[in-house]
Amino acid sequence: MGKGFFNVPIAVNEPVKSYAPGSPERAEVLEAYKTMFNSQVEVPLHINGKDVTTGNTRTMSPPHDHKHIVGTYHVADKSHVEEAIATALEARKTWSLMPWEQRAGIFLKAAELIAGPYRAKINAATMIGQSKNIHQAEIDSACELVDFLRFNVQYMQEIYEEQPESTSAAWNRIEYRPLEGFTYAVTPFNFTAIAGNLPSCMALMGNVVVWKPSDSQVYSAKVIMDVFKEAGVPEGVINMVMGDPAMITGVILSSPDFSGLHFTGSTTVFKNLWKQIGNNIHNYKTYPRIVGETGGKDFIVAHKTANAKQVATAIARGAFEFQGQKCSAASRAYIAKSIWPDVKKFVIEDVKSFKMGSPEDMSNFITAVIHEGAFDKLAGYIDQAKKDDDAEIIVGGNYDKSKGYFIDPTIIVTTNPQYKTMYTELFGPIITIYIYEDDAYSETLKLVDQTSEYGLTGAILATDRYAITEATQALQNSAGNFYINDKPTGAVVGQQPFGGARNSGTNDKAGSAQNLLRWVSPRMVKETFVTPTDYRYPFLGE
Ligand code: NAD
Repeated sequence: MGKGFFNVPIAVNEPVKSYAPGSPERAEVLEAYKTMFNSQVEVPLHINGKDVTTGNTRTMSPPHDHKHIVGTYHVADKSHVEEAIATALEARKTWSLMPWEQRAGIFLKAAELIAGPYRAKINAATMIGQSKNIHQAEIDSACELVDFLRFNVQYMQEIYEEQPESTSAAWNRIEYRPLEGFTYAVTPFNFTAIAGNLPSCMALMGNVVVWKPSDSQVYSAKVIMDVFKEAGVPEGVINMVMGDPAMITGVILSSPDFSGLHFTGSTTVFKNLWKQIGNNIHNYKTYPRIVGETGGKDFIVAHKTANAKQVATAIARGAFEFQGQKCSAASRAYIAKSIWPDVKKFVIEDVKSFKMGSPEDMSNFITAVIHEGAFDKLAGYIDQAKKDDDAEIIVGGNYDKSKGYFIDPTIIVTTNPQYKTMYTELFGPIITIYIYEDDAYSETLKLVDQTSEYGLTGAILATDRYAITEATQALQNSAGNFYINDKPTGAVVGQQPFGGARNSGTNDKAGSAQNLLRWVSPRMVKETFVTPTDYRYPFLGE
């Protein structure tokens, strides 16, 4: 047990490196990229601290060069998942008793490893496996993951410090126990940082974890697992299994010891998992915690007083960075008619200036979308927009999957505010814009609020403070992360805790103490110093 009240280092956001031509970081990451791209990696499962090969493998290819193979990963069968659960439960016996400062030390070390010796490798893995340009990889797999690890340690200390009042007669203490049983992390392809955060934040709070990364993020998941090992995460505390998501999840959710789901991904998958948990509720030893951050249909509203160049930039960055594959990406915009001609001119200029190709060529702003399924779906929406009378493609509209899954950044303008791409999450480099009459601002805000089932992010651009105030109130429930005069993407850990409600998730704010609180079950301890010996209260006297 601890013999002191320790202060963890004050968390500071990891500075984003520039990767400008001639910089040492650029040379280092390009060297890592070339080496990794031209060799083959084997990714085993990770169970009980051991690399487990199953003989059943799948290949990994970069989305921007899908015929090229960069390695294989092993696929679990039912017995591996059962072993991961058993091993986690065994590890819990010692891990749940580990003093908090020791847990903190492990994950602070993981942060330093990523910020330093693993930085080029984790960025290169993210560039190759998820087709991020270097800036997108750096802000995600290096900086955001480092921030999650450092800030979570600080939040853990803050949570532990939260204690009830005591009196001279009785001392009240709250212990923030880990959940009884094991937890399950299911992570998406689009952020290496989320993949690292979901299992590690639960483990930090003393839980044991089975982690299932996305099939499209396995390369960087391996680097994360290597970092956890080197940082000293003990055997069985975080177990990584890849393979058939339905099978793996089925085995996990039918275990009576399942005690929490930490999910990030699409809304439909999350709802099905919730339903499965509900169906199994009579089997569990404890009510499982369910946290899910899911889809979005994120908006930009531009008032007639907005600066047209700023609106165009918010669209160019907010809709198209990482090919629009951010849950926060702007995918619908409502622009006041009087500023639209200027916004249109600037944004078309911007989009036409984007270069698209492999992330190895650092002048490329746009790279490929994640896989053929995503490509085909997006191409379908573009084809449909070309046919529909109420839609017009003003820039982009082409696609090519001969070498990589490349979709031109595309802007659809619609005359129908209920057009399909105004409410459906496409998750690609396509934004749909509706032009509204300047004096229909209030009605337009209602449209923004009511058009989509989601409530993740959104932005208002205006200089008129009354217009900003009106939007802030009218869109109160339309976004969990609301931006004024900015794009709706780019949340930073410690600055803008992230998450949305409605069909966008349980809004437990990744990168905050609120999220960590979901992974503990407080125990109240009252210690009385002079224990009563007579049941009679004074009011009972004669
Ligand atoms: P996805 O739902 O396809 O996959 C997410 C995870 O769920 C993966 O690990 C996948 O293997 C797993 N999965 C898929 N089918 C499953 C099943 N039947 N049973 C159990 N697990 C299953 O999502 P994705 O394509 O990886 O990521 C994109 C989605 O994630 C988008 O909808 C995006 O908005 C959302 N997202 C949300 C946030 C947020 O913070 N709100 C952040 C990132 C991504």
